[in-house]
Amino acid sequence: MTVGIGDDAAVVEPQRGTLDVLTTDTLVEGVHFDQAFVSPADLGHKTLAVNLSDLAAMGAAPRVALLSLVLPDAMTANALDALVEGMLALAEQHGVALVGGNITRSTGPLVLGVTAVGSVRRRRVLTRSGGRAGDELWVSGALGAGAAGLACLQRDPPAAPASDTELTDCVEWYRRPAPRVRIGMLLGRNRTARAAVDLSDGLGDGLRQLTAASGVGATVDGSTIPIAPGAHRWFEHNGVDPLEAALAGGDDYELLVAVPRTHRRRFAAIRKLTRGVPFTRIGELTKAPELVLRTTSGNRPIPVGYEHFKQA
Ligand SMILES: [Mg+2]
Repeated sequence: MTVGIGDDAAVVEPQRGTLDVLTTDTLVEGVHFDQAFVSPADLGHKTLAVNLSDLAAMGAAPRVALLSLVLPDAMTANALDALVEGMLALAEQHGVALVGGNITRSTGPLVLGVTAVGSVRRRRVLTRSGGRAGDELWVSGALGAGAAGLACLQRDPPAAPASDTELTDCVEWYRRPAPRVRIGMLLGRNRTARAAVDLSDGLGDGLRQLTAASGVGATVDGSTIPIAPGAHRWFEHNGVDPLEAALAGGDDYELLVAVPRTHRRRFAAIRKLTRGVPFTRIGELTKAPELVLRTTSGNRPIPVGYEHFKQA
């Protein structure tokens, strides 16, 4: 039996043989987004997307979500409808049921909170802590798009001409990231990946989270880090080292995974099932606890405390 919206609380049947995976994330106007750059529909999409990305990093199949909205007085009914529609469209795409929600008026900023629940078989849970020295580090998709997209939007006037599709792709990714739900589930299968984290705050942060939890270090080859072409050009054009930007930039929502060498063949098979999303090997986990970036100008530490490409 499942009871959704309309009663005092949602009732959800546990899925046989699986564990529940729960996550919650909140986006706050003025901290995480600016309504000048993102439409209500984008916001609905994105608030759910960041939660689904966390479930993906755990190898879980998303099932249900709860929404908590704090609306400023100025928000119109149309804007609210668009926001919910944006969320429902992504939910439908991933088979997620929105089973409940709460709306409150406030005199403050717009606040969007989502709690998402997924399920995963016990042996398929991906965590940050499973990495071992010698595991290969792989990253999905391309990095830097979210950071470049936001930087573009913050220009006045916004700086992405429609003819520059590589750059408008970055803006689109910032507004509507595609959580790697299917890939996360594939990676949990047969325990292909030993550890995983989603990149919400940049590759540098993801590397730190995964290595700290696994009790290892990492060496990353700078020349192999996949950077979205539009982002690469944008950063170079604006005097920012694209590599630095990819390490520091947020809003990527790609997956960083540690794959044991013995699972190479298994992983190669998984990479054929990602529907065009590439995986790139960027380095390996090491016994030595340091995070080392190899570049053409020598080795250097990946510094801690990267400043996020987030709005003030
Ligand atoms: Mg995460």
